[in-house]
Formats: sequence, C-alpha cells, structure tokens
Amino acid sequence: MAGDIWVVGELADGGLARISTEVATAARELAAAAGRDVAGVVVAAAPNDPARELARFLPRVLAIEEPTAGEHAWSAAAATRLAALLEREAPGCVLVGATPDGRDLAGILSARLGWGVLVNASALAWAEDGPTVEMSVFGGRLLTRSAFTVEHGIVTVRPNTVSALAAAAPGTVEPVGSGAGSAGAASEAPALPLVRVVERVAEAGAAAPIEEAKVIVAGGRGVGGAEGFRIVEELAAALGGVVGATRAAVDAGWIPYARQIGQTGKTVKPALYVALGISGAIQHKVGMQTAETIVAVNRDPDAPLAEFADLYVVGDLFEVVPAVLAELRSGRS
Ligand SMILES: Cc1cc2nc3c(=O)[nH]c(=O)nc-3n(C[C@H](O)[C@H](O)[C@H](O)COP(=O)(O)OP(=O)(O)OC[C@H]3O[C@@H](n4cnc5c(N)ncnc54)[C@H](O)[C@@H]3O)c2cc1C
Repeated sequence: MAGDIWVVGELADGGLARISTEVATAARELAAAAGRDVAGVVVAAAPNDPARELARFLPRVLAIEEPTAGEHAWSAAAATRLAALLEREAPGCVLVGATPDGRDLAGILSARLGWGVLVNASALAWAEDGPTVEMSVFGGRLLTRSAFTVEHGIVTVRPNTVSALAAAAPGTVEPVGSGAGSAGAASEAPALPLVRVVERVAEAGAAAPIEEAKVIVAGGRGVGGAEGFRIVEELAAALGGVVGATRAAVDAGWIPYARQIGQTGKTVKPALYVALGISGAIQHKVGMQTAETIVAVNRDPDAPLAEFADLYVVGDLFEVVPAVLAELRSGRS
C-alpha cells in the first residue's frame, strides 16, 4: 500500500468531534510505526476552527470550505469534495470514526473511488506494507485481524480505541480551493442528493455521554428492576460518575438504550468501571474491557467478570453498595 495516512475530521456542534481527536492520535501512531506522513482533512461550512483543533493532533490539516455542509447531512455534502481530493492526492489509507456519519462517508467514498473498507477497528497496527485492523465478529466471540489487498483503503475506527493525545507541537492548516485539478472518475460522478437537516434532537438520557465519562457505574440484570437502578445512580453520583447498563437491563426497559455498553451499545474507556449485578458476557466485555480499573460486585463467585475484574467482590449488591456509600459519606475514604 503506497502513500500517506489521512484522517477525516468529523463535526459536532460546529466544532471537531471528540472521536476525530482519537482517530488522529491512532493515525499518528500508525504513521510513526509505518514511517509514513500523516495528514488530516476537514470539510465544513466553516472549517477553520475544527481544522485548527485537528491540527493540535496532526502536523498538517487541509481545510475545505463547503457551504452545503452547514444545513445538509454532513457525509453526503462532504463526500464529493473529499472524493475529488483523495483521488488527486492518493493517500494509502484514510481513517474516520466508526460513527453514523463516518460509516456513511466510508461507504460513499468506497463506491466513488473503488477503495476497500475495513470497519469497526478496535485496534490498529502496521504490518509490512499496510495497516492490520482488529475487529470483533460473531457477536464478539472472535477477534479477527484483517489487511487490505488493494492499494487504497478506508478504516472506520471505534470510539475509545485509543486515548486522544495532542502532538508535541501543533500542525499547519492549509485552505484547499474548490475544484483545483480535480478531474477524475470521482469528480465526474453524478452529484450526490443532499439531505437537508430540518431539526436536531438530543438523544433522550444522553445528558452526560458515557463515552466520555471517567467513572462509570453500570447495572445489569442483577439490579432487579428500574427501582434497583436508584442505588446504581446513587453510587455513580457519589463517585462523580455516570450510569451505564447491560443489554439485559436495557431490553427489560429499566434504563434507556443510550446507556447500553457493549457490542450493540457504546464502547467506553473510563478510569474506573464499577459493574453491579453484571455477569460479564463477551458482548458486554467488548464495550468496557479497556477500562483502566474494573470493580465488580456479584453474588456468583464464578461469573465471567471474575476472570477480568481488577477487584471482584462476591456479595449481594444491595448489601455491598449501601456499605460503600456509607463509607464514602462518612468521609473516611
Ligand atoms: C448479538 C448480541 C449482541 C449483544 N450486545 C450486547 C451489548 O451491547 N451489551 C450487553 O451488555 N449485552 C449484549 N448482549 C447480551 C449478552 O449476551 C448478555 O446477555 C448480557 O450482557 C447479560 O447482561 P447481564 O450481565 O446484566 O445479565 P446476566 O448475564 O443475567 O447477569 C446478571 C448477574 O447478576 C448477578 N446478580 C443477580 N442478583 C445479584 C445481586 N443481588 N447482587 C449481586 N449480583 C447479582 C448474577 O449472579 C449474574 O452474574 C448481546 C447479545 C447478543 C447475542
């Protein structure tokens, strides 16, 4: 695989999305391992601020002003400009977040450019002439490592795959004009239909996003019902954290889906993860196993979580948690 490693910056509330700072960090590490150059690109109605933010992580960022990106769904609005640029500059590998926008973009670019796509990377490495991408498949039962067999590829990277770390010195931001030298198959393809955004609605229950939390207290089926989540919330509040859940608790209707952690929920990477009444099934584990410290409370001494928790307390959560809360409130801890 020839060429540089590129990152496409995504937007959130007009600024750079947090996932793009993580993807940029992963790309920088990959480029260092590969001995390749690394660059970023931001396409937005007002690209300068998000491009400057991305340049805290990368040595060179291209800023493309695309007026339609402001009031239309970003991926389609950005894809035409990006496809022309990528076709012209021909980086070897492009990294983008495994988000709804990132996935849309990867699909459109693949169709327009004929490039390969590897999705949902949970780890990245460089082997011989290209990236190897770790993915979780078959309901989380297997981890696979895949590589491109084509010259150019796009990788979507899961949130919390790496911790964002700014570069030692900020990079440069270069504005890119429209159309320059962009004749090619991608730019000659028919224009994409744009989808106008008429309203943005905040996801219910997502006031404090669990992907960004440093402390998560999660409840599972062992919590016993929606009422049982009170004690989970109390411990989360006492520890300055947020509440998470397993799919069993979400499916039972005890807590909104926005709190679900795991293969079909969010991937999290907090400093502290407290699991209450959670068995630690593989589909839950893949969403939280990179937490720095995992503490579990479970009645069953042999639940799967016992194998990977840093501290495993065998006991009834309705006895253990009130004792911990009393200790925290006494100020002795
Ligand atoms: C394709 C697919 C995708 C999936 N995606 C996800 C996902 O994204 N996230 C996810 O979480 N799951 C997911 N699952 C479901 C997963 O397989 C498990 O069923 C689920 O994680 C179990 O949740 P749990 O640990 O809350 O419940 P259980 O496995 O039933 O465990 C409950 C635990 O609570 C303990 N317990 C009970 N009472 C108490 C008490 N009073 N005090 C202390 N401990 C107690 C029990 O000993 C038990 O270990 C998925 C499954 C499939 C097939």
